[in-house]
Amino acid sequence: MFEYAPAPESREIVDIKPSYGLFIGGEWVDSQGDTHHKTINPASEEVLAEVAWATEADVDRAVQAARTAFTTWSALPGSERAKYIFRIARIIQERSRELAVLETLDNGKPIRESRDVDLPLVAAHFFYYAGWADKLGYAGYGADPRPLGVAGQVIPWNFPLLMLAWKIAPALACGNTVVLKPAETTPLTALAFADICRQADLPPGVVNIVTGAGETGAALVNHPGVDKVAFTGSTEVGRMIARSVAGTGKKLTLELGGKAANIVFEDAALDQAVEGIVNGIFFNQGHVCCAGSRLLVQESVADEVLDALKRRLSTLRLGDPMDKNTDIGAINSAAQLAKIRELAEAGVNEGAERWSPACPIPERGFWFPPTVFTGVAQSHRIAREEIFGPVLSVLTFRTPAEAVEKANNTPYGLSAGIWTEKGSRILWMADRLRAGVVWANTFNRFDPTSPFGGYKESGYGREGGRHGLEAYLAV
Ligand code: NDP
Repeated sequence: MFEYAPAPESREIVDIKPSYGLFIGGEWVDSQGDTHHKTINPASEEVLAEVAWATEADVDRAVQAARTAFTTWSALPGSERAKYIFRIARIIQERSRELAVLETLDNGKPIRESRDVDLPLVAAHFFYYAGWADKLGYAGYGADPRPLGVAGQVIPWNFPLLMLAWKIAPALACGNTVVLKPAETTPLTALAFADICRQADLPPGVVNIVTGAGETGAALVNHPGVDKVAFTGSTEVGRMIARSVAGTGKKLTLELGGKAANIVFEDAALDQAVEGIVNGIFFNQGHVCCAGSRLLVQESVADEVLDALKRRLSTLRLGDPMDKNTDIGAINSAAQLAKIRELAEAGVNEGAERWSPACPIPERGFWFPPTVFTGVAQSHRIAREEIFGPVLSVLTFRTPAEAVEKANNTPYGLSAGIWTEKGSRILWMADRLRAGVVWANTFNRFDPTSPFGGYKESGYGREGGRHGLEAYLAV
């Protein structure tokens, strides 16, 4: 590996307050409870700020504020709503360096990813849905589709600002108002977004941000004043939400876990496929719901692919997420690290072979080296359960039919990847894979114009693209 001099991004650009309240009705307000939570930098365990935990009464205030704002916001012509959303998109672009640094500090992801992937996609989402606001009548949902009302949105910690954008941009474009709860460990960019709403002169109450833990999320999704629930997170919590929302008339979209197969055929451009495997599972420390966590490689090229993969992994740099050379950042929390460790140990105990490159681990913070398991059987926990970390399980296949069979042998169905030079094989496979997104000769590629969502236990509903509007319209 080349020796690189450190290239740290400066954190001077962000101004983190010692303590944050809730953003309700366009104002910063104190929580009615007195519980606060410290959010830390997972790469150093340094406390970044203290954040309020919203109580049921706070959630109620936020929903009331959103309800009041709905009357005027939904009555605005789409072209007027678009102006606000375009303004938000432009401010995000202007403040993108600050937001990228803040995201990296709070989440642990490498600055290279927050700067070059998360933030450009966040801005693109707002630009894209701003464009829809005055064209809803042409989206295929009737001549004058109506908004639903107040959307209660609960998001996870793996792409904090991007998940906020996926939820808030279409909701506002369609004329809904929003109460959003960010994840407990990554609230800071959502709070910065509240500031952006003020900067954009968004009418008070159109967006409300309530920070807190699972109970705050539960209070939000169970609030009778919420018309639409949008959730991204674990299948377990998704199931609970589906149960609690059933029969209430609330519209629900769930984007849950995954255990995607990344399928490499012998005729694929193997060097390119190796890059795709790395991007598929080691991007964002593997904290990606659509991560290519199961590599299915054709037996005839398995040794060659594995050798190349191990060589490539030996060049990845793990360490300070604020360093622009870093490829693998910190695991988001101690709890997530414990979960990854537990599943990796289960892999060894069940008989798979574990490999990681030589990789110095920093003393403080939460870290897990890139890890590859070979000799994995389909029954192993590491082949079935979502690890949500930088851990790849390798299985082999001989025929396309066997690849399909193995790829679909999972309770999930969020994404899949196919690597082959044959277009006909891509189409044949894509037809048979039970996955909401199928990538061909690429992986983890996102675009606001493209719908994203799952089958089976990966959830239902689509986010992104024209299809993403449906979740926020009374159709
Ligand atoms: P959760 O599903 O618990 O968290 C997602 C969001 O839901 C967070 O904002 C969380 O709050 C909130 N929440 C928790 N409980 C409730 C509830 N009862 N009602 C409403 N909202 C609730 O995921 P975790 O962060 O606990 O991660 C656990 C596992 O889930 C991971 O190891 C990973 O496997 C998977 N996961 C999958 C994601 C995906 O995109 N598919 C994203 C994140 C996790 P709080 O942050 O306070 O817990």
